[in-house]
Amino acid sequence: MTTLDLSGVTKRYGDATALNDVSLTIDDGEFFTLVGPSGCGKTTTLRLVAGFESPTAGRITFDGRDVRGVPPEARGIGVVFQNYALFPHMSVAENVSYGLRFSDPPGGVSTGERVSELLSLVDLAGFEDREPTELSGGQQQRVALARALAPGPRVLLLDEPMSALDAGLRERLRGQVKEIQRELGVTTLYVTHDQEEALAVSDRVAVMHDGRVEQVGTPRDIYDWPETSFVASFVGDNNLLEGQVVGRDDGVLDVAVDEAVFSVTARASGREPNVGADVTFGVRPERLQVVDEGASSNGNRVRARVTRSEFLGETTRVWLDWNGRELTARTTDALAGAVTLAFEADDAHLVSVDRG
Ligand code: ATP
Repeated sequence: MTTLDLSGVTKRYGDATALNDVSLTIDDGEFFTLVGPSGCGKTTTLRLVAGFESPTAGRITFDGRDVRGVPPEARGIGVVFQNYALFPHMSVAENVSYGLRFSDPPGGVSTGERVSELLSLVDLAGFEDREPTELSGGQQQRVALARALAPGPRVLLLDEPMSALDAGLRERLRGQVKEIQRELGVTTLYVTHDQEEALAVSDRVAVMHDGRVEQVGTPRDIYDWPETSFVASFVGDNNLLEGQVVGRDDGVLDVAVDEAVFSVTARASGREPNVGADVTFGVRPERLQVVDEGASSNGNRVRARVTRSEFLGETTRVWLDWNGRELTARTTDALAGAVTLAFEADDAHLVSVDRG
């Protein structure tokens, strides 16, 4: 299959820089996701890989081969966009076989056999003669996926393929897409602004912001060890606190925030800050435990006032005021008034360090 590499890729449109010096390697067979807010450059990255546009600077290679000047139809890619883009006047089978207009079906099978194979793969066997208007949104996207996969592409490119669908359908379809991708082992580049979706389906994720890649990692790495304030707050909820290191002992930092001092585990990755450094650390809402004020514990304590809450079924999301700062917690019980929140040094992660 195929390894995809972007090296120092920049894309400008006039004065606007859509992508700024992006370098990424997507491994053979990997499900790799670009996630970030609107306008951060996700679609531009995908269009450059597809060959719909050319980089202003930098290099894109497929298995080490520079693809500059290679047109999209000769790159061995399959693309699925947000809006199904099926031909309304063609049957499902005709739409899928349209994917074979530039190449014969792989494996020496006939076009008809290939179409049946793919429709079974996307769980639409028997739908050959339907028209797209007779299908649900999710079914239409599965036809679009079958069409993209028909020629046996080296690389599958998916640009927000589920964003037009309702929440329940989106969750089901993302599971199916992931399963199909696993089964075929096709190198996949997936674009979404939905951080939960990115965590759910990906082998690795690149979080993008303002045309740059802020962090690349497994979903768990990105969630547990965000390296910048942007990543820490874009992926999942977070409580970010800024303070100054006032002590350091055996991998645990004492960080002063206003009058309070918190114990924060310094990650053993060579970025341990010195005493005096300004740092930002994050504590996930689900790590804040509500405790009795009198209970003894060695952990960090915060006395805060509940300002509002949102009942979400499984949990309640609570907003609190602590010395004029807003914190969020997740609880199972409704809370009101003044409460004590506790967290351990291990529950906090350093996000940024300014060595001053
Ligand atoms: P969205 O989630 O909204 O699709 P995105 O992360 O995919 O956003 P891009 O479409 O890659 O973002 O756009 C990145 C930046 O480049 C944006 O600021 C956008 O306005 C700009 N841009 C994209 N295409 C063009 C173009 N053809 N001409 C000028 N500017 C463009």
